[in-house]
Amino acid sequence: MSIRTRFAPSPTGSLHIGSARTALYCWLFAKKHQGTFILRIEDTDLERSTPQSVQAILDAMQWLELDYQEGPFYQTQRFDRYQQVVQQLLDSGHAYRCYCSKERLEKLRETQLANKQKPRYDNHCRNAGHLEKTDQPFVVRFCNPLIGSVNVEDQVYGTLHFKNQELDDLIIARSDHSPTYNFTVVVDDMDMQITHVIRGDDHINNTPRQINILEALGATPPIYAHLPMILGSDGKRLSKRHGAVDVMQYKDQGYLPDALLNYLVRLGWSHGDQEIFSRDEMMTHFSFTSVNRSPAAFNPEKLLWLNQHYLKTENPAQIAPHLTWHMEKLQLPLDQGPALTELITAQAERAKTLLEMAEKSTFFYQPLNAYDPTVTQKHLTPELAPIFIALSNLFKITDWDKENIHAVIQQVAQAHQYALGKIAQPLRVAVTGNTVSPPIDVTLMLLGKEKVLQRLEKAIDVCMAGNLASN
Ligand code: GLU
Repeated sequence: MSIRTRFAPSPTGSLHIGSARTALYCWLFAKKHQGTFILRIEDTDLERSTPQSVQAILDAMQWLELDYQEGPFYQTQRFDRYQQVVQQLLDSGHAYRCYCSKERLEKLRETQLANKQKPRYDNHCRNAGHLEKTDQPFVVRFCNPLIGSVNVEDQVYGTLHFKNQELDDLIIARSDHSPTYNFTVVVDDMDMQITHVIRGDDHINNTPRQINILEALGATPPIYAHLPMILGSDGKRLSKRHGAVDVMQYKDQGYLPDALLNYLVRLGWSHGDQEIFSRDEMMTHFSFTSVNRSPAAFNPEKLLWLNQHYLKTENPAQIAPHLTWHMEKLQLPLDQGPALTELITAQAERAKTLLEMAEKSTFFYQPLNAYDPTVTQKHLTPELAPIFIALSNLFKITDWDKENIHAVIQQVAQAHQYALGKIAQPLRVAVTGNTVSPPIDVTLMLLGKEKVLQRLEKAIDVCMAGNLASN
């Protein structure tokens, strides 16, 4: 049997980090078994679903590169099918029309609460056996079995028992004929031949209801795996209070999708002590037996550490398109500076995120129009003018590679009896306008001879002006 999993988000907001982990596990499990991963948009809640949220989910799936082989399917496009199945259940006697008024149901609830009973439908219309349709508004309820229990072999939580007595007759179609959430999930899981339902453990209580409906429809229920929730550092459910919870915020902040996925796969799942997983390794090792039943805590520092690890170790060509996105956002003209692959190699040690890397690299691409006076006062002092002049003269005749650049700096330092380090920093300020950059020879090499000479000229002027002022 070929494995079929689905990720079924409700488009009522952007893609939450917890949902992304669910999507990842669904994707991994399908991929691992050469199965099919399906994307289903559960947009039947017309009031809360928005096209923007649908787009946000699609964008996040694309950014994370969680490719689906089928879908996206939209539940709002399947209403005819749901009605057909409601009718099927009515015809087979597994569902009935319920004409109970709101007032009656409210009264029932009040009485049950007053008697310290769990509020539930009392099967009034099930027992009344309305066979014919009347003009009165009605909902359709599923005839839940009255006795016995539902046993679920959950892949994470183990065997779960639910007594049918605890489950009341669920509404499957509202009075406007619209299908309800638990019902659409059942019809879709059946029609899409889902073999494994992998979802958050907030759905555990829906599972026995869904299994009963599937069985009434003659379908074999899928295998279920419920995932424990993700907590914030304070032990409460991860929410906006804890910081960024929307996947795309991580894109904006400069995380690599692979780093985020690597972080998410480890949230609640482990394979020995291994921390770093390529997508292939995740696929090879992933199994539900190693998914933890207790909730996992989200640790932003660890994610940041992982991100830098990926910046340092992943092939720069792989990282470059992601960096391009940030550079373009900062409106940096990419054709005016070094190739991004070289920039990544040079900056990986100095940046934990792509955003930081882009921000620290602006001087490579933008003209250096003016120096910040506080930096110049300290670093571009009059006695540096002859050194910069000497550097400039030698650079003019230098073959532009790291070793030659280094040799020139060393030569000038020796000639002027300066320590190398005492020249490197003012030179850095002269060509970058700043005190932080990759090693000086790498910085100059990446800037290119032309820019270095232009900027040195400007720096010499600044040093000389300081000279004039001090005379
Ligand atoms: N639409 C549900 C949600 O976003 C998921 C339902 C399911 O996976 O069965 O929580």
